[in-house]
Order: sequence, then structure tokens, then C-alpha cells
Amino acid sequence: MPVADHIRKLGFRRWHERQLIEAHASLVTAFLGVIMVAVCMDQFHWREAGIKPLIMLAVMAAGIALCFKTVAFYFKALFRAEHFAAQAVCGGCGVYGVIEVRTSSVLALQELPDAASGDWLKVRCKKCGHDWTMSADHTQTPIAKSL
Ligand SMILES: [Zn+2]
Repeated sequence: MPVADHIRKLGFRRWHERQLIEAHASLVTAFLGVIMVAVCMDQFHWREAGIKPLIMLAVMAAGIALCFKTVAFYFKALFRAEHFAAQAVCGGCGVYGVIEVRTSSVLALQELPDAASGDWLKVRCKKCGHDWTMSADHTQTPIAKSL
């Protein structure tokens, strides 16, 4: 589901909060993966007969893959949340995160296939009615560019 639909459904502040919760839950999962790898390394012995060393290697590989996947998700979700949060302050009244999504590039493309270019959200402040456009391309943030 596109970000615009999530923000529309939950509201910006709740969406942002959920992004942070999901990001940090994935970070906890990464730490559990590290613990899983460490325990398997401790219990791993090449000279042991049977299938146990192979199972240990498979679990270690799965733990390492889990760590990479969840850390990547952590940074992606965190950058996305930070990217939108930086643009969620109303230029009219200065209130943070009290917005409604009017339309987005994804919705515009569904209605008019050649109408939109780029990745954006058109939002409106619920407090004062000020309109502005948020860039939805979170890979263009200064932090994301430096990685
Ligand atoms: Zn406002």
C-alpha cells in the first residue's frame, strides 16, 4: 500500500509512530538474529558426526541473512519516516503533522496515466487549510544519499 493511503487511513502522526515502531521492531529482530548466530557459533563443532554441523551452518546463514534484511528495513523505514516528518510542518500556521493527503503521484497515475512525474504527495493542513507538496522520494534525503 502506498504511503499516501497509509497516511490517509491512519493520519500522519499515527502513521509516523507506526513507522518508528516497525523500524525498531526490526532492529530488535536483528539483535535476536545476532544472538542466534552467536549461539550457533558457540555450539558449532566440525568434528561432530551427523547432520548437526550442517544444521548449525544453515541456522547461522539464516541468522546472518535475517540480520541484513532487518537492518536494511530498519534504515529504510527510519529514513522514510524522517523524510516525511521533516516536511510535515505547515508553512501557514507551523503546526506539525496535522495534515490530510489530497492526492499523490500514485493516485494521479491511476486516474491519468501520463499526468504525474516524480513521486509526491499534495497535502493540506487540517488546521488552517494551507496546501503544499511533499516529496515522497525518500532516497533523496541527505542522510540516504550519504549511505
Ligand atoms: Zn496550518
